[in-house]
Amino acid sequence: MEPKQEHKLISHADILLIVGILILAVAGLFAWKKLETPGAYVDIMIDGDSVKTLRLDQDASYEVKQQVGVNTVVVQDGSVTVQDADCPDKICEKHRAISQTGETIICLPHKLVVEIKE
Ligand SMILES: [Zn+2]
Repeated sequence: MEPKQEHKLISHADILLIVGILILAVAGLFAWKKLETPGAYVDIMIDGDSVKTLRLDQDASYEVKQQVGVNTVVVQDGSVTVQDADCPDKICEKHRAISQTGETIICLPHKLVVEIKE
């Protein structure tokens, strides 16, 4: 008697199931990765116009040069600060680092707004 096909160790249905589980696992991994890396960025605006965006998950610094003066926006370890500002009040420079969506650092003399967005 010939061996019956359905007595194979792994049937086609099993392979489909395994492939399905693998796809789900990979999709889950991607979803998890997405959660892990912050999607937030910082928007640098002058007088309401966005001039530059920087990702929060990459350390960077950006010099905002205007006729009225200069502010350097620094991203470090997911937090944003304004450094080396030459505005008269230096309020932006003294502002604590921001890292949460919706937080802002404002430099009134330079009409500069640094806001964390998603
Ligand atoms: Zn300022």
